[in-house]
Amino acid sequence: MSNTLYIVVPCYNEEQVLPETSKQLEAKLNRLMEAGKISKQSRVMFVNDGSKDKTWEIIARLHAENPIFAGVNLTRNRGHQNALLAGLMTAKEYADMVISMDADLQDDVDAVDAMVEKYSNGCDIVYGVRSSRKKDTFFKRVTAEGFYRVMNLWGAETVFNHADYRLMSKRALDGLAEFKEVNLFLRGIVPMLGYTTATVEYERGERFAGESKYPLGKMLAFAMEGITSLSTKPLKWITLLGFLIFAVSIVLLISFIARWALDMTVVGWASVICSVWAIGGLILLSIGVVGEYIGKIYLETKGRPRFQIQDVLLKR
Ligand code: UDP
Ligand code: MG
Repeated sequence: MSNTLYIVVPCYNEEQVLPETSKQLEAKLNRLMEAGKISKQSRVMFVNDGSKDKTWEIIARLHAENPIFAGVNLTRNRGHQNALLAGLMTAKEYADMVISMDADLQDDVDAVDAMVEKYSNGCDIVYGVRSSRKKDTFFKRVTAEGFYRVMNLWGAETVFNHADYRLMSKRALDGLAEFKEVNLFLRGIVPMLGYTTATVEYERGERFAGESKYPLGKMLAFAMEGITSLSTKPLKWITLLGFLIFAVSIVLLISFIARWALDMTVVGWASVICSVWAIGGLILLSIGVVGEYIGKIYLETKGRPRFQIQDVLLKR
């Protein structure tokens, strides 16, 4: 069985962590090669996502010093998902299996062995799932777990507590390449591929150095992206809401007619103003959600490229 492994690592302003990350990944690959689990052509492929610091210089130097390191340089910052996709699509041309991993060493490097093992047992996709979030700050833990719950509630089915640490076989990646959507949410798309899958549990550590590139605002935007690119449930809910409000207004109308017939006059400014604002708000909210989907359609119809590669450094 051919067993060339590529580890794809998207990097955005990661100069602080790259020296350590590269050291650990190199050691991991060397050990797996010696054990005969992966071929000698295996590589660590760093994708520079338009960093503003010395990230690309570091990647280029690593590559020059040791051919085990490969680099892909994007023309500008396109975000984590697009950078990852650029790496996966480049790597799949040379690899039999590709593992995606963050640059900050939060994903336990030792889970790679179990992933490779499951691949050789015939799995096409292996999800890295975190066993606990003890090492996250309370705030990050609550927001991140809330993220998965809200996502599933709104119809974007994802693997609980799985981020983008996973192994995919070449044929699974070929399948992924057929998904042309611009609104990319890999965690939702990969489960749609099917194939035999497995999970590997690992403990997620703290960021090795530097700060998170996913602050709350970006995470909310990411959740919104996930929901609106995977499901149309919010639209159904709006219809339901509109129907309910309409039903309530009919009931109110009947009761007002009855009061009028009984000669009970109504004084109630406050209630009128409140309901006007409430209904107005709901209408705006609903238009907003519909608009969100129309925006997606607009972007999808243009079908612009999701990433553009400037340089590839790879010795085979
Ligand atoms: N990243 C990227 N482009 C971006 C933002 C982040 O390639 O625009 C990379 C980043 O370098 C890291 C990974 O995505 O390897 C995850 O980011 P981070 O660790 O900051 O997210 P967190 O773990 O805090 O959710
Ligand atoms: Mg991180």
